[in-house]
Amino acid sequence: MELVLAAIIVIGIIAFIAYPLFTAPPEEIGEASDALDGLSAQRDSAYDAIRDLDFDFQLGKLSQSDYAALRERYKTRAALALQQIDALDGNGNGAKIEDQVAQLRAAKRTAPPADDAVEREIARLRASKNAAAGLRCAKCGAPYHAGDAFCAKCGSPLKPKDG
Ligand SMILES: [Zn+2]
Repeated sequence: MELVLAAIIVIGIIAFIAYPLFTAPPEEIGEASDALDGLSAQRDSAYDAIRDLDFDFQLGKLSQSDYAALRERYKTRAALALQQIDALDGNGNGAKIEDQVAQLRAAKRTAPPADDAVEREIARLRASKNAAAGLRCAKCGAPYHAGDAFCAKCGSPLKPKDG
């Protein structure tokens, strides 16, 4: 059993090291995509290893404890590769950060309308105050100044508020 386990680990390591050599030629790919390819290979090889492990376990080649330990190890490797891929290609944490930036931008955009609402309210209060203070002809509704004796528009006599 130990021999089988050792053989699986060695084959896994060889496959893991050799796999990127059989993918795209290194001189044709940039550093980021190189890293991404390496991580993709790492993830894929981990998945392959898990699949092989499941197969071997089903065939009875592995004990439950060996199987569980190896599977956990490959799962950790796959998860690590996935995390790094997400960070690199912007589908994971990068995208989340972009979302947060977009939300902040949107919040900043909605701030002026809120200010506008305050300004509108101030303008409304100001207008209503003017209307209350303003004097209007009882007959035609034309505004007049305190102290005017007659409406400038219709000529009807006015009763100043203060007098
Ligand atoms: Zn009038």
